[in-house]
Amino acid sequence: MRVPYIAANWKMHSVKNQTALPEQEYAEKIMDKIAELGHIAVEVSVFCPYTHLMLMEQMAEDQFNVGAQDMHPVDRGAYTGDISAELLQDIGINHVLLGHSERRHYHNETDAVVAKKVNQSIQNGLYCVVCIGESDTQNQAGKTHKVLQKQIKNAIAPHTPADRIVIAYEPIWAIGTGRVPSVKDITTTHTNLRTFIAKTYGTEFADSVRIIYGGSVNGTNACEILHLPNVDGVLVGGASLHSDDFCKIIGGVL
Ligand code: PEP
Repeated sequence: MRVPYIAANWKMHSVKNQTALPEQEYAEKIMDKIAELGHIAVEVSVFCPYTHLMLMEQMAEDQFNVGAQDMHPVDRGAYTGDISAELLQDIGINHVLLGHSERRHYHNETDAVVAKKVNQSIQNGLYCVVCIGESDTQNQAGKTHKVLQKQIKNAIAPHTPADRIVIAYEPIWAIGTGRVPSVKDITTTHTNLRTFIAKTYGTEFADSVRIIYGGSVNGTNACEILHLPNVDGVLVGGASLHSDDFCKIIGGVL
């Protein structure tokens, strides 16, 4: 069984709760929501800025994952401003978001760079969420599946353990825009992805690996998206900054 995976991507923001210690309130609300779901299994990850990692990891009390939003492909060296798997693990962080379209766009991350980072995270025993997604132009030109297949094949090596990786399908044109593909299109894309993954990596891997959707998910549309075939969770940007909105999204697994 694939446990639903709900991830928050705070990007370069902090949470916007109204209390003196917003991170604590955020973490407590997530834990309350997870407890409220009772026997319904859900895995929640919060990808926050580096400066929040230690505090959030402490607040999470092992009830949800805390992860970084990027990671360098080598363990150490003269890479000013970067962070490595080793350094993340030193502070107890074992989760990382890789290949987000904003990293690909603003930091020129190619598929080859993403592949190195994915490999590095797996080799170091981290859990990673690997983002893929097509541009508006590629979508309009009917190239979505081709683009996604190439990104997957380039980023994920054969024999990657399925429990170490989550694939996040995030159409670039849907991120932060309020434009969400139709439920029919999300279903078709996710189903095609799983079929392609089965052909490329084998059915065992394809049956286990989680494929989540990201792009303008909010408290209103999450429940429907979460129940689509072959959708195993959601990656949430803007709506994850408010704990009430994010908790509503988590509750969408019901
Ligand atoms: C994202 O950046 O990963 C994302 C899904 O953003 P938003 O939910 O704001 O579209």
